[in-house]
Amino acid sequence: MFSFYEKYKHLKSFFLKLYLFYANITSIMKVALIIVFRGVPLLFSYIIPSEISEKYKKGTHVSIPLGKAKAIGCIVDISEVDGQKSLKSIIDIEKDYVDIKEDIIDLIQWFWKYYQCTPFKAYQTIVGKRKLRELKEEKIFQAIPSPHTLNSDQHRAYDRIIASTSFECHVIHGVTGSGKTEIYMRLADWVIKQGKTIVICCPEISLTPQYTQQFTQRFGNTVSVIHSGLTPKKRDEAYTRIIQHLTPIVIGPRSAIFSPLDNLGMIIIDEEHDASYKQENHPRYYTHTVAAQRCKTANIPLVLGSATPSLETFSFATQAMFKSEQTIYHQVNKRASGVSMPSMQLVDMTMHKDKRQLLSKELISAIQSCIEKNQKVIILMNRRGYCPYISCQKCGEVHVCKQCQLSFTYHKDKTFRCHRCDIKVPMTHKCESCNTNSLAFGGQAIQKVEQELEHFFPDHSIIRLDKDTAKSAKDMEVLIDEFRQRGQILLGTQLIAKGHHIEDVHLVGVLGIDTQLNIPDFRSSERTFQLLMQVAGRAGRGKEQGQVVVQTQQCNHYAIQCAKDHNIQQFMETENSMRSALQYPPYVRLTNVVVSCRNESVLKTYSQSLQSFLDQQELSDISWIGPKPAPFEKVRNHFRYHIVFKHQKESEQIIKDLLLRFPIPPKYCRVLPDFDPQQLL
Ligand SMILES: [Zn+2]
Ligand SMILES: [Zn+2]
Repeated sequence: MFSFYEKYKHLKSFFLKLYLFYANITSIMKVALIIVFRGVPLLFSYIIPSEISEKYKKGTHVSIPLGKAKAIGCIVDISEVDGQKSLKSIIDIEKDYVDIKEDIIDLIQWFWKYYQCTPFKAYQTIVGKRKLRELKEEKIFQAIPSPHTLNSDQHRAYDRIIASTSFECHVIHGVTGSGKTEIYMRLADWVIKQGKTIVICCPEISLTPQYTQQFTQRFGNTVSVIHSGLTPKKRDEAYTRIIQHLTPIVIGPRSAIFSPLDNLGMIIIDEEHDASYKQENHPRYYTHTVAAQRCKTANIPLVLGSATPSLETFSFATQAMFKSEQTIYHQVNKRASGVSMPSMQLVDMTMHKDKRQLLSKELISAIQSCIEKNQKVIILMNRRGYCPYISCQKCGEVHVCKQCQLSFTYHKDKTFRCHRCDIKVPMTHKCESCNTNSLAFGGQAIQKVEQELEHFFPDHSIIRLDKDTAKSAKDMEVLIDEFRQRGQILLGTQLIAKGHHIEDVHLVGVLGIDTQLNIPDFRSSERTFQLLMQVAGRAGRGKEQGQVVVQTQQCNHYAIQCAKDHNIQQFMETENSMRSALQYPPYVRLTNVVVSCRNESVLKTYSQSLQSFLDQQELSDISWIGPKPAPFEKVRNHFRYHIVFKHQKESEQIIKDLLLRFPIPPKYCRVLPDFDPQQLL
């Protein structure tokens, strides 16, 4: 006899199926894709608790179980799935974190894919640590109308930029003193009147006070400043102002590009040629690339301004071969004050007899006649310290930093310093190699120039400005102010070349430019040309034509000759033909893969396996150099190899896929890509 159970068994299975069918429909769950705050290469999925699921959205921070521990994460996407997935559930919302806006979340997602870093690294780079702060009540200022009228060049650029109806890249090429800042302020005014917001990037933290001052004079307290030198409190206050829509204008160096502004209307990158727009630590992002991404997403104009645009920007804006319809070139020629560009005189240092003296008699007499007329002088010497070369007189051994294998630089405070890793050791005359007291110091650097200036001009105030005298942006401001008020001679590294407005400077002297020219990097001619043009732009900003004296052993080098003639067109043509012949940007894109390890032999073995891996690849239209030791072969105890890929933009993804297939590096060996590198050192 069948039991009751046996008899209705088929029914049970029918009901079970029916139950499961409905259960599936009703148990559709929300699943969040999360950036976990750990160095993991992927996003993780977690179930959103159903009771309060509407509280979770893109940009919400949550706590989650990870292995046996608890971790924090940020939601980047939410989707619905059926109940079959065996996922863990989110624990709770983390209320201490400020929600991230959707467009910033999108930017993070683009960033980690583009720069091939971990999602958390992208999050850290873009968001950092943020907290909202209570703000003191402030009266909002009304912007005051511009006291200046635009000249015809300025007006043409302005009119065309505000006519943009979608993403466009506008290159403003304006000689130093042509009034680019006035155009930027008009643009900011226009953007704000549309109810939108604007980011203005400047190249150096030390320049932010100058920009901020100019903009706050016009726009009052509707300006926020963001840079890495801010205290956590100041930084949080700035973010709070931005998030609460109190400051539609944000000014700062490259990290300002990540500002969480709502309703972005324009991004301006001033002095766009400056190397500081590239972050040189992992992830090595380029401000222009991030800015273009934000502008494309928001469908708004991007403005790149410079007196000396980078070769790539210039080519992309002016040459038919590279130009796209979305790039528009504006030339702003007239110096606002109507004074012509300074005259440049070259002093051939190969004819210079006394090798111990750094200042040529031509430069000394130019300084002399200047200070007699109570005019100010700027001297550029782009090398810190007193003597950059220390070697043994007896056995010839160079005294190097062990971490970097680079010669120490002697500084006047009786220290040896490594300018690559910043290590500082007491000076000595003792040679480690032959054990005699035979170390001698040679070469030229800024402290030695300072000493000579003090010798020739003992009664005049000389201010030295370099990383050693100005440790912060504030120090730098104080020194520049002092020079403005009572200084006669300002001696500085390239810090002084960048956009500081100082009236009454008549003469600029340039020393040690040959060192810059001899850096083993494909951009060294370009950087030299830019530096000369920039520093020359400091001269004669008042009423009289300025004067520049350049001491060099390479008078006939095209970078120096073109700078002398203020002939950017000629420079671009010559440099471009070199780049074309050697296949460098703008003719190709570069991707540099930096492989580093503390252990040299481990690195060598790994690079050999990379070599044979690459030899097996069949990659048309992609060529590469390396793996081979980098020009800076050792930095902070890490040995370094480079593989430089040359490719077209279309092959970008192929390179990224190739990187993912690289042989797995041994322990403690790092492989980090640098897309569109700004230098190959
Ligand atoms: Zn020795
Ligand atoms: Zn070092």
